[in-house]
Amino acid sequence: MDSQKDRKAAILADSLTSLWAETDPEILAVITAAARDDADAIADTFYRTLEGDGEAAPFLDHAVVQQRLRPSLAGWIRGIFCASTRESVEESIARNYDVGLVHARINIPLTLVNAGMRIIKKELSARVVRSNLSRSQTAHAVLFVGEVLDTVLDNMHEAYLGDLLGNVRHQQSLKMFMTGQNLALEGERLKSSLFDWLRNAVVAFYAHNGPASVMPAVPPIETSDFGLWLTHKAELIFGKVAELDAIRARTDAVADAVRRAAAGTVDAAFVRDLNDAVTEIAFLLGAMIEKALEIEGGRDPLTRLLTRRFMPAIFQREVTIALRHGKPFAVLLMDADHFKQINDTLGHQAGDTVLTEIAELVHANVRAGDFVFRYGGEEFLVLLTEMDMATLQVKAERLRILVAEHRFTVAGRPFTVTASIGAALHDGHPDYEHTVRKADAALYEAKRLGRNRVVIAGTDGAGPAAEAAALHRGGASAR
Ligand code: GH3
Ligand code: MG
Ligand code: MG
Repeated sequence: MDSQKDRKAAILADSLTSLWAETDPEILAVITAAARDDADAIADTFYRTLEGDGEAAPFLDHAVVQQRLRPSLAGWIRGIFCASTRESVEESIARNYDVGLVHARINIPLTLVNAGMRIIKKELSARVVRSNLSRSQTAHAVLFVGEVLDTVLDNMHEAYLGDLLGNVRHQQSLKMFMTGQNLALEGERLKSSLFDWLRNAVVAFYAHNGPASVMPAVPPIETSDFGLWLTHKAELIFGKVAELDAIRARTDAVADAVRRAAAGTVDAAFVRDLNDAVTEIAFLLGAMIEKALEIEGGRDPLTRLLTRRFMPAIFQREVTIALRHGKPFAVLLMDADHFKQINDTLGHQAGDTVLTEIAELVHANVRAGDFVFRYGGEEFLVLLTEMDMATLQVKAERLRILVAEHRFTVAGRPFTVTASIGAALHDGHPDYEHTVRKADAALYEAKRLGRNRVVIAGTDGAGPAAEAAALHRGGASAR
């Protein structure tokens, strides 16, 4: 990676050096003089302008600007426009690369860096225009200033983006490192650390309450194994997720309660509450880890089916196999009928239960070589391998009946749910989306014909007419 950085630096140095060599010395003298004499004034304007910019304000502490940033910007301007030899150009490129790294480290928005660069360009150009160069020389000079600053900006951005990508890559590998077996193990360790902390805290409290005791140190949860992990590592692994916020809020509450109690005395109720709070944190932690493991494994947390994310990889492979062996696959789309009504009358929880049970029904009634995806909210996609039209019709109808005849129960109350199915056989098209779209059009037709039915693309009741209808509604779902 460093050699790539060096290569790019050499390219920049080449272009800057030749720019200097090709430019009229009279023009260069004016620019160099302006940069040398007016660098402080330009730096002043730079910070005065940016201080009025809300986005920039957090990066511009007044004292720091006065003492360090302003003089260093002035030096920077001089350095850039006085660097005429190859050696000094290379030095300036290396310095600017480091500036870019600093920008990345403190997370300055790139738009702000660009805005700053525009100020310098404008100020320096204005001074060149006021010099006594000829019109054509002035034009050249302004172009030169722009060219140099753009090159420098490229160089900074190179560093900035390289650092950013490096960070992302790093985070991804960290995440990969932590998931799977590691994450499961880490979770167990964290839970036992939590309960260790609880035990120590309780012991400390009772010692404190006991007769003739000196005030013992109640260990703060923040510095427990679990607390340190929560502060430093959790977000790197899980990202910004709601579960983590909930865990943090409860941990903070526990820390507060402990601090308050340490000042007074505690009773059995306090210890019981503490135990409940820690148990809840452990539960949230376990749920978050379980969910992460499922997502990593490509499973939908509610139904445990495959998520859409895995469709491209699986389908691309199936298209290749189908084309090679001449055995088409089929796409079957199943959408629960009037599902909104189930949610509305029985509640979202009941809706979730229905989805889970439909998923189980479908999964249990396809072959081991088939793939079942949760395609949308109440929509399932089945990839049936090595299919033919007759078998597809039988299978689709069987799945429809299985759902329609299943007794769902919520709070002891039985009810039934129906689903509509649209399916299509792969016709050799290299893009699997083509087959999915055909199944989708067929599903639309099944809904239109009254629901609780199967429509197979290319057979009666579907085919071109349904596809045309789907196209007509511009892909928007009428289901
Ligand atoms: P249609 O017969 O035309 O398919 O009608 P529908 O009500 O099933 O279709 P619509 O697309 O209008 O509504 C789908 C509903 O499914 C809306 C949404 O709230 C619900 N839903 C989506 N995902 C979930 C989920 O994960 N859990 C629950 N309980 N409901 C969900
Ligand atoms: Mg529906
Ligand atoms: Mg739907």
